[in-house]
Amino acid sequence: MHAIEVRNHGGPEELKYVEVPDPSPSGGEMLVRTTAIGVNFIDVYFRTGIYPTELPYIPGSEATGVVEDPNGAEGFSTGDRVVWATAPSSYAELVCVPATAAIPVPDGASDAVAASALLQGMTAHYLINSVYPVRSGDTILVHAGAGGVGQVLTQLAVAKGAEVITTVSTDAKADLSRQAGATHVLRYGPNLSRQVRDLTDGEGVAAVFDGVGKDTFDASLDSVRVRGTVALFGAASGPVPAFDPQRLNKAGSVFLARPSLGHFVRTRDELLWRAGDVLDAIAEGSLTIQVGAEYPLRDAEQAHRDLEGRMTTGSIVLLPGE
Ligand code: NDP
Repeated sequence: MHAIEVRNHGGPEELKYVEVPDPSPSGGEMLVRTTAIGVNFIDVYFRTGIYPTELPYIPGSEATGVVEDPNGAEGFSTGDRVVWATAPSSYAELVCVPATAAIPVPDGASDAVAASALLQGMTAHYLINSVYPVRSGDTILVHAGAGGVGQVLTQLAVAKGAEVITTVSTDAKADLSRQAGATHVLRYGPNLSRQVRDLTDGEGVAAVFDGVGKDTFDASLDSVRVRGTVALFGAASGPVPAFDPQRLNKAGSVFLARPSLGHFVRTRDELLWRAGDVLDAIAEGSLTIQVGAEYPLRDAEQAHRDLEGRMTTGSIVLLPGE
């Protein structure tokens, strides 16, 4: 099969399109032929080595595909369309998917939408339901509002009755963030927290959802209300440097969380709950996944360049066999 392999940590050029032997599923795994593969910022952290991983490896954890060999998995048959967000080595034509990670794809959801909805969608879901349960009437701040997680989080929070302020870097991204439901779209910069305070009668927001990290963290702390929550869930601009916890006290007894999706889909029931909510919202039309770009699998390098270069919006996918 063809796959993307990383032999050394480094830049996007380390994503090599190679031919490797077909994988064989072990107990509890199914063999699935991918039809579309989700690209996520976490794939960048593993490639650069910010997150540790053994070399060489096939990146990716999210895709849609058709079951080629259910390998005895209960409830699945050859030909079923499935999607997953937590199976390793997914930048490939064939993936061994643990049956516990596989979820049937509802009719009507395209391969590209399904392949890029769950990782970002379940992240948004746990952030606004489990890290800080967003309530009707809350005002929240979401960084990178035109990004994959940002657009989904905005839509789900608005559906709960929240008012959403976002940050973006360009006019085109501002339009997309407004389409996702943001009431106020701001630019990054030294005046950011002052603008957020002006929009909230000086109070600050109930919660900040910060996947940008190094460049936004100070503004996040300055924008949150007394006893509010800062959910630091990523580092698109780089990791936040070590700091004195006393800063949380000074900011107003602020709750700081540094969560990861894996800890919020610990059981099959929890996975099915979050994935079900995301897929149902798509089917009902209350959640739109904007697939911002599609690349042939062999062009994974370009996909990473665009993602890291802030050129993408919404979710992005790789298409095998092209
Ligand atoms: P995005 O589509 O949001 O892409 C990242 C965006 O971050 C860019 O488009 C850009 O938007 C913004 N950004 C700001 N500064 C920079 C910078 N210096 N370099 C690159 N981008 C920058 O990606 P995802 O939706 O895949 O992920 C968003 C965040 O969520 C990431 O940090 C990711 O790691 C995190 N994440 C965390 C999870 C968890 O469980 N903890 C799970 C899933 C994702 P703009 O140009 O508008 O600023």
